[in-house]
Amino acid sequence: MLRKMEPPVQVTVTTIPSKSCCGVRAAPPLCINALATGRVATADDIVKSLHLRLFAAISLREKSSHRSVIRQGSFGWPLDMKTGGGSFLYHLEDNQVAVGFVVLLNYKNPYLYPFEEFQRFKTHPAIAPIFEGGKRLSYGARSITEGGYQSVPKLTFPGGALIGCSAGLVNVPRIKGSHNAVLSGMLAADKLAEAIASGRANDEVVEIENEWRDTAIGKDLKRVRNVKPLWSKLGTVLGVGLGGLDMWTNQLFGFSFFGTLKHGKTDAQSLEPAKLHKKIDCLKPDGVLTFDRLSSVFLSNTNHEEDQPVHLHVKDMDLQKRSEHDVYAGPSTRYCPAGVYEWVEKDGEEVYVINTQNCAHCKTCDIKDPNQNINWVPPQGAEGSVYQNM
Ligand SMILES: Cc1cc2nc3c(=O)[nH]c(=O)nc-3n(C[C@H](O)[C@H](O)[C@H](O)COP(=O)(O)OP(=O)(O)OC[C@H]3O[C@@H](n4cnc5c(N)ncnc54)[C@H](O)[C@@H]3O)c2cc1C
Ligand code: SF4
Repeated sequence: MLRKMEPPVQVTVTTIPSKSCCGVRAAPPLCINALATGRVATADDIVKSLHLRLFAAISLREKSSHRSVIRQGSFGWPLDMKTGGGSFLYHLEDNQVAVGFVVLLNYKNPYLYPFEEFQRFKTHPAIAPIFEGGKRLSYGARSITEGGYQSVPKLTFPGGALIGCSAGLVNVPRIKGSHNAVLSGMLAADKLAEAIASGRANDEVVEIENEWRDTAIGKDLKRVRNVKPLWSKLGTVLGVGLGGLDMWTNQLFGFSFFGTLKHGKTDAQSLEPAKLHKKIDCLKPDGVLTFDRLSSVFLSNTNHEEDQPVHLHVKDMDLQKRSEHDVYAGPSTRYCPAGVYEWVEKDGEEVYVINTQNCAHCKTCDIKDPNQNINWVPPQGAEGSVYQNM
């Protein structure tokens, strides 16, 4: 049964994990920390080390009305101005278009349905014509870390270090993560080479932790550190405007009126009881421009062996019913981009069904469950989504 199961991480002299989606929930980093130091990581570690936010979905279409504009982006609509998010759209080669919709996972309304907002976005009069005559090709979803400078965890431990998205090095306002991933790999390689050359082994290469804030990575993230907290606190119009201003005072004068703002609540804590919010209507999919979730998941080529070890754990089923269902109206049935979670009536009772087979490994459930009652663990090797063209 466990024949394909990979050990979580081998802690050897040079363990340098860089897995963007993993950084979101810090599962491998925390595994490594626990292995290396013998301590058990707490939920507090997760919150403080990686402040996380984002849900993104992509679909690709061909034969669309291809434009010379290479890249388009937007904030807000169809989200309200208190809910962070927006879109990106890339015109690619071979008459293809990649479109994505982002929802910041600190949203409050448990009725919010990110996949449906993505479908609604495509109906905007400025967007819909792009897809005329097109065909849906692929679909996928990922979360990425957005905490930035003030949320980067301690990067080193005996025998290894965190780099790239495992460390949460994405520059969110500039939508750039690749450059810091590469730079952090180079920094780690340099410091490890120096350590090995001086005869060291299995110790903590503290130079990486001590020096990264003074490198291009640290300077890049420091300049934009207040954009996300301002957006979360003040909403899209005021928050993004002030965030932009702050970014430029940092860029031009190395100065911020705000110092370094904190992020506040975690994504899980941000969710509010359903009674405080109104339901949000969903569109009926037309199969041309808007689609249902399951047929989209099919295009992600997600696959798991039937006898795989379970990688989605609900710690307390009673709590899930009492709180996730009764208080929050089952947000997992909406935030999961793959339709994994369902509340189904069986013999007069609401039963929580987990369609693990569909899991796209985006980790939104682990991040957003209001009670932190769902635990995503690294699945059996080589399983999950096999994205095409993305
Ligand atoms: C929708 C979306 C849009 C983005 N747009 C941009 C953009 O326009 N510009 C930009 O600069 N950045 C963008 N980013 C961010 C960028 O993709 C990441 O910051 C960058 O890829 C991080 O690189 P990384 O090497 O740290 O991690 P990754 O690129 O995620 O690489 C990690 C690798 O580890 C592998 N892996 C995971 N688990 C295991 C395991 N157990 N064993 C072995 N291998 C494993 C993964 O398959 C993956 O190949 C975007 C991200 C998303 C999700
Ligand atoms: S079950 Fe969790 S990790 Fe899997 S696709 Fe759904 S939200 Fe993402």
